[in-house]
Amino acid sequence: MTYQVNADGFYGPFGGTYVPEVLYPNIEELQAHYRAILSSAGFKQTFQTLLEQYVGRPTPLYEAHRLSKRYNARIFLKREDLCHTGSHKINNTLGQILLAKQLGKKRIIAETGAGSHGVATATICALLDLPCVIYMGEVDMLRQSTNVERMRLLGATVRAAQSGSRTLKEAVNEAFRAWINDPEETYYVLGSVFGPHPYPDMVAQFQSVISQEISWQLPALTHQTFPDYVVACVGGGSNAIGSFYHFLDQPLVQLIAAEAAGQGLDSGQSAAATFLGRPGILHGTKTLFMQTTQGQVVEAHSVSAGLDYPGIGPQLAHLHQQGRVEFKAVTDQQALEAALSVTRLEGLIPALESAHALAALEQLSLQPEQLVVVCLSGRGDKDLTTYFNYQASQSKP
Ligand SMILES: *Cc1c(COP(=O)(O)O)cnc(C)c1O
Repeated sequence: MTYQVNADGFYGPFGGTYVPEVLYPNIEELQAHYRAILSSAGFKQTFQTLLEQYVGRPTPLYEAHRLSKRYNARIFLKREDLCHTGSHKINNTLGQILLAKQLGKKRIIAETGAGSHGVATATICALLDLPCVIYMGEVDMLRQSTNVERMRLLGATVRAAQSGSRTLKEAVNEAFRAWINDPEETYYVLGSVFGPHPYPDMVAQFQSVISQEISWQLPALTHQTFPDYVVACVGGGSNAIGSFYHFLDQPLVQLIAAEAAGQGLDSGQSAAATFLGRPGILHGTKTLFMQTTQGQVVEAHSVSAGLDYPGIGPQLAHLHQQGRVEFKAVTDQQALEAALSVTRLEGLIPALESAHALAALEQLSLQPEQLVVVCLSGRGDKDLTTYFNYQASQSKP
């Protein structure tokens, strides 16, 4: 397959393994074994069974008739919001924690932003009886206190990252630090297609179940083999890569990634890494991220905590550079409007992240009968307060 990782862990100029020397043994262990484990019959069987019986897969591909009417095309929603714990994140945590068990690891650590990845990790750790520690920015712990309680209820320890902006970026730093302190027994579950090789490839493979299902579900509903468009939002890029994966080598399928523009691309309050970023090294990988002229990371801003990250994964950076994936910038306001509108049109309250993908539909010039698949990456329960406040602010004179 084109666009996939090469033997050195690169996607074109992006990717690689930029980690401190002390982490080399861990990373090398992963690099040496992940392919064999992921393709072994035993692993595949267990992963598949738990995806079906525990996560709730396959998730439906739903033809959204009222949304279709509005855009004058056939719009299908891939219902990742129906996965256990409410988003696609659990596809990856299940895969990685099964892998950790195979590697004989005794303890799990993870970072989390809004808490979705932390909750998905804590859930699988409860299921598979492994202790886990979740690193979370102190600011995010206050903003998402319910998720902190949920993780603790599941048996996880939640530790506050107290440096810098005290959000996701610092949580990742803390998780790497913890990993360095106990490289032998600990497995680090990264939450997106990010970090040093082999994480971007591994996470992409676990999330590729999304496009694998679309590729048999869509023909059953439409008698057309491929969609005209696949649309997904991008934080680090895992639901996007998962939705695109089986269509990467089909040039007629247009792949659209919606990035969070926050208050606007020129506002200084944005998270649109392909529009505002440059190549550099962040969290163990060479990729595109927002940085100062001296290469310091610039804080990201988005109304959606899951997209509030200054970079994108290396495979997406490469797909962007090659022109295979087209990126659209969606502002906070546009995402909020799309969320409320889809709620009323379809009776589905999307996650704010997913609302960015839905808002990107406005920027496509769709033809009648074209088939458009949008990844509804998660449900909006965690965003209800933001929606209430937005609606209240709109109804004021
Ligand atoms: C975390 C999250 C995202 C962003 O992460 P990706 O790795 O870019 O997919 C998107 N949607 C939801 C619902 C999330 O929880």
